[in-house]
Amino acid sequence: MTNKPYDDGNIFAKILRGEVPSHKIYEDAETFAFMDIMPRGDGHCLVIPKKPARNILDVDPDSLRAVMITVQKLSRAVMKAFNADGVTIQQFNEPAGGQVVFHLHFHILPRFEGVQLRPHTGEMADQAVLAANAEKIRKALAEF
Ligand code: 5GP
Repeated sequence: MTNKPYDDGNIFAKILRGEVPSHKIYEDAETFAFMDIMPRGDGHCLVIPKKPARNILDVDPDSLRAVMITVQKLSRAVMKAFNADGVTIQQFNEPAGGQVVFHLHFHILPRFEGVQLRPHTGEMADQAVLAANAEKIRKALAEF
């Protein structure tokens, strides 16, 4: 277990409260999915629980179960939306584990044969591109 408390001032908590905009893809009672603002590949999106959790170390098991079901839904949807060859799921815990935003999240990255992930440059993607990719994924989800 981590001893570090959840801080509801984090950016994903603000997105959940609607204080900061995001390109929403999917939402249910327990989970929320949206585009990563600095994508490391086309279609890079994130799945988070609505219930506050800092990371994998403190998340409530029911909330984690719900998140993983949404991760699977979104993985299937990005495969279809981008005609991808594979999908990478990433999840980081605590600064030493590579975590930057302290609300549990899973990265979903559609992958293509021979194409490397882009480096994390800190540069935000074009909003119109993010909006178009979110729409592609929502459409794929609706077709299942
Ligand atoms: P991690 O904590 O897993 O290392 O990375 C956090 C992720 O959140 C990064 O991929 C980053 O691009 C993404 N991110 C950071 N700030 C925002 C934001 O304001 N909106 C969205 N949609 N994504 C963000």
